[in-house]
Amino acid sequence: MFDTLSDRLTGVFDRLRGRGSLNEQDVRDAMREVRVALLEADVALPVARSFIDKVTEKAVGSQVLKSVTPGQQVVKIVNDELVAMLGGEGEDGAQAAPLLLDAKPPVVIMMVGLQGSGKTTTTAKLGRLIREKHGKKALMASLDVNRPAAQEQLKVLGEQVDVATLPIVAGQQPVDIARRAMESARLQNSDVLLLDTAGRLHVDEALMAEMKAVAGVSVPTEVLLVVDSLTGQDAVNVAKSFSDEVPLTGVVLTRMDGDARGGAALSMRAVTGKPIKFAGTGEKLDAIEAFHPGRVADRILG
Ligand code: GDP
Repeated sequence: MFDTLSDRLTGVFDRLRGRGSLNEQDVRDAMREVRVALLEADVALPVARSFIDKVTEKAVGSQVLKSVTPGQQVVKIVNDELVAMLGGEGEDGAQAAPLLLDAKPPVVIMMVGLQGSGKTTTTAKLGRLIREKHGKKALMASLDVNRPAAQEQLKVLGEQVDVATLPIVAGQQPVDIARRAMESARLQNSDVLLLDTAGRLHVDEALMAEMKAVAGVSVPTEVLLVVDSLTGQDAVNVAKSFSDEVPLTGVVLTRMDGDARGGAALSMRAVTGKPIKFAGTGEKLDAIEAFHPGRVADRILG
């Protein structure tokens, strides 16, 4: 992940840092290289453009070029803008955005995304995290009536992470399953209810109508979009389609253990306006990490 981008940027910035003085043209030339590197990493064009504009404006419009270490100052500006692009929390924007679990229980977390994005696996990973890290009682329910064995899959994963799943009732429709899950969560005094909604191969109207209907009956505190970081620009397009239709509160990027070029991670905040809350880092059920923009920026800049 980010390997090529990181190599390219490190090369550009090592050269900048190595020089005693810089003029405006040097910065513009370096930024042209950065722009190419971002686009090659699949960062969405408007996001890359806005990033370059902001960095250039800050670097040439201030005292930076007259300072004793102009190269380092420019790299610092790039780092800060990278953190802003990754979009975190806290004063410096470098912290991970937390899972919102403090509402009146059962707090509903609705998981949405395309088929194969890693939604069911991520649901189980979060169930485990909520039990282990937050010490809360969770119930998980699969609303996926399209894919044969999807509900069974969540049940098996639930057993592996020691988190309860809603008993399967054949033939029930998603909204009815959601209602039953709410009732069951209340009866069992669950703190959190995770709803694993149905995926589809593509974004379509029926899928969006179903998401809205499920959100209508379950009033989720979190609506987390699960996207596969390996799909690059497509991941960004999928995120845009979902965020136009359902009130997302965050994104989970899966397969960050793969060799994705990074564009999805870098474009997600700008395109959806929502933070990446978690990164999936493997098939195992403990392979999930809070997404810290500061740490990711450090990794990219070497
Ligand atoms: P769904 O159709 O969206 O529910 O997708 P699944 O949860 O069934 O996941 C599809 C495949 O991706 C499974 O083989 C998972 O083990 C795998 N997977 C999910 N998340 C990750 C991840 O972060 N890294 C890797 N390497 N594999 C993942």
